[in-house]
Amino acid sequence: MYKLNITNKIEREYSEALKEILLTPTTKKFNARAKRYFSFIKNNLAITNKKEIEKLIIGKDIHLLVQKYGEFDSVERQVYEIYENMRKVFGYRLVKLLNIKVCPYCNRNYITNFANKTTVTLDHYYPKSKYPYLAINLHNLIPVCSTCNHKKGNDSFKIYPYKESIDDYITFKFSWFNDRKKLGFFDEKSLKLEVRLKKRSLGTWDYKKYIEDNYQNHKDIIAEILKRQEMYPQSRIEELYEQFGGRLFSSKDELLGLVHCNFIDKKDINKRPLSKLTKDILEQVK
Ligand SMILES: [Zn+2]
Repeated sequence: MYKLNITNKIEREYSEALKEILLTPTTKKFNARAKRYFSFIKNNLAITNKKEIEKLIIGKDIHLLVQKYGEFDSVERQVYEIYENMRKVFGYRLVKLLNIKVCPYCNRNYITNFANKTTVTLDHYYPKSKYPYLAINLHNLIPVCSTCNHKKGNDSFKIYPYKESIDDYITFKFSWFNDRKKLGFFDEKSLKLEVRLKKRSLGTWDYKKYIEDNYQNHKDIIAEILKRQEMYPQSRIEELYEQFGGRLFSSKDELLGLVHCNFIDKKDINKRPLSKLTKDILEQVK
């Protein structure tokens, strides 16, 4: 899926999970952890209205909530405590229900659960250290790889994977260094890779540089794509589609994706690592 989607089913399951996170099973009243958390939030935001508190936990428009309530200067232990419990109870389910396999920030690393436990890190799109009132709001939680989570830190980042993807923000472009004849046409050392921004203002974290630096490790993939392009010119693709289309593939793009061992359709970008890179390089050489 191109964008992550919090479906009605996910919302329903989260409402159920919240009972476990916030209530004492016998009395059905707030447990001690929830009381500590809500009193911290209420004291700092001066909210008494129950509906408004509910909005902080399940409200969809987190951007509006941030505009309304702004940043906290400091955050107390109870915020981390409630989040950790939420992650323990629902983290595994969230990753499974979102059907996400690859980090939506970098499109480089797999993010998968392991042995029925959440081994995926959840990034707070609006960091809990500044916006503690969104610490357990589903719409603020993004499953990401640990490299991105660590790198992003407390930055509020502009790619919001529930609305858009890496494909909306950047394009990969390759070129050759001048000495490519000496090194060989398909030698990764001959290749230069750069990231071009489609949209400006990506938060204070230098996302463009982060992606560009990390992807220098994947120039071998570009060299392989270029080799396969030589081996499978359009005429060969047509031939293969003639032979296998309909039975093995529903489109020529699907066949081309198999040739390049990746998904090349924008809608499948979160299914396999480096699909964005593969897609952009193929678009460039087409
Ligand atoms: Zn990542």
